[in-house]
Amino acid sequence: MPADQSPGDYPLWHPFTQMARFEREPRLVVARAEGNRLIDTAGNEYVDGVASLWANVHGHSHPHIVGAIQEQAAKLQHSTLLGITHEPAIELGRRLLPHLPGRSRVFFSENGASAVEVALKMAVQYQANRGRPERNRIAALEMAYHGDTLGAVSVGGEGPFRDVYEPLLFEPLRFSSASPASLRDLLTTHAGEVAAVIIEPRVQGAGGMIVAPEGHIAAVRALCDEFDTLLIADEVATGFGKTGAMFACDLEGVTPDLTVLGKGITGGYLPLSATVTTEEVYRAFHGEEGRKLFHGHTYAGNPICCAAALASLDLFEADDLHARTRERAALLATLLAERIADHPLVGEVRQQGLMTGIELVADRDTREPLPPDREAGWRVCLAARDRGVFIRPLGDVIVLMPPLSIEEDELAQICEAVAYGLDRVPRD
Ligand SMILES: *Cc1c(COP(=O)(O)O)cnc(C)c1O
Repeated sequence: MPADQSPGDYPLWHPFTQMARFEREPRLVVARAEGNRLIDTAGNEYVDGVASLWANVHGHSHPHIVGAIQEQAAKLQHSTLLGITHEPAIELGRRLLPHLPGRSRVFFSENGASAVEVALKMAVQYQANRGRPERNRIAALEMAYHGDTLGAVSVGGEGPFRDVYEPLLFEPLRFSSASPASLRDLLTTHAGEVAAVIIEPRVQGAGGMIVAPEGHIAAVRALCDEFDTLLIADEVATGFGKTGAMFACDLEGVTPDLTVLGKGITGGYLPLSATVTTEEVYRAFHGEEGRKLFHGHTYAGNPICCAAALASLDLFEADDLHARTRERAALLATLLAERIADHPLVGEVRQQGLMTGIELVADRDTREPLPPDREAGWRVCLAARDRGVFIRPLGDVIVLMPPLSIEEDELAQICEAVAYGLDRVPRD
């Protein structure tokens, strides 16, 4: 290899990371984590303000989850779910369903994007299997994010996550999260073509922490019923307590036909995801060989991952974590109002439970965006590290999504660090 192409001593290429910047900036190397804090190789502590990318629920190194992982690892590390089964997966299916009333079948995968792919394939094949192959399109929200595999990117919002891959994608029908009427128009125009409507219920995460008005999920459900199409709720980000309820659909008493779970399902410890559905959808796949679902990942429903998920459910069932989350969320709202909302760079603060987006703008009145080369969001998050807080922005939206176990003083530290970071963004 020519010398100028040598990778030096750093061999990694990081996800969603501009490596040119990564190579310039101080490197945060996490050595271990305890409770709500990450600890780097130099011994510095950082409050984990984004729950290790929206996944961690009960804090790091929780003895109950660690113990369950250790015990399962000594017993059965992996055995396939293709045609045979194992107890941790069966038990997890049984234990998840009481939290998902009206649903009866759990299909495991390894990550959120894959579980979204499964939901899309289930929806289209469900329609085909019941003799409606012409119902083969997907309706999706503008600004949606459903993961990074090609089917998930297809139903994701337009923009840099999607545009360059356009030649590889299919086109969904799009409607606005602000207005269920736009979905009615779309379903009226395309009656009989739509296999399923996919939403991120209540909070659109990676699209910028956009909070839908109360009633939006129920309105979408009603339209799906009226037009005889399936509702897919992607709860990968919103699931497992982050919104103040176990699932965002619970906030409006809605039962989707397909629910996608990921991130927090193992408490944020190991990779696992699930597509949960109704007996009605499941039954449509019964019969001859060609009616089965043609999908499955090698490590789907891995027993150690299932053991972690079961231990996480134990913790949900032992305490009223949702009441605690709503109290913490109220404190966070107060701190944001006191320390952040009036800052000249802040255009809007959006919050549902512990899911928070702080949108930075050039002008508070016109909501004019900042020029991207200011890298304001990134600078705030980098400065926050000096105050012992790890957060990661979505462009110029500062995201806060701490674990449910976050303590009051840690929430205050996160907000102080954001305020400190905001003061360090150069004015022009
Ligand atoms: C993170 C996310 C995904 C993708 O999950 P991965 O495990 O990263 O593949 C899908 N949908 C939503 C709403 C997400 O936030």
